[in-house]
Amino acid sequence: MRGLEQVIISVDELEALRLSDYLGLNQEDVAQEMNVSRPTVTRMLAKAHKAIAEALVYGKAIKIEGGDYQVAQPRFICQQCQYTWDDATEAAATTRTCPKCHGSAIQRFWRGRAGL
Ligand SMILES: [Zn+2]
Repeated sequence: MRGLEQVIISVDELEALRLSDYLGLNQEDVAQEMNVSRPTVTRMLAKAHKAIAEALVYGKAIKIEGGDYQVAQPRFICQQCQYTWDDATEAAATTRTCPKCHGSAIQRFWRGRAGL
């Protein structure tokens, strides 16, 4: 790849691409899955499609870069009250109790990845 001109796709654009073009989810579902608005998904896909087209047409390399979307997002569920929460939003990585009922039967799972 050295010496080739590059187009850049961010990891969140790549994830949108994976969910939409590769797995065939509609934009509504992609938005939900990625926890962003639907216009954001539309924008990301348009940008990714253009970058890929440019790479194909002009023989450029595609570079995946940065982005602030966490591809695999760990979540937690309380087995006592079924409350679920994000690792990121409530800093649950170190939390051993449920933020809602303070129960300690916490299970970690990966959001929405089972069938994907
Ligand atoms: Zn609970």
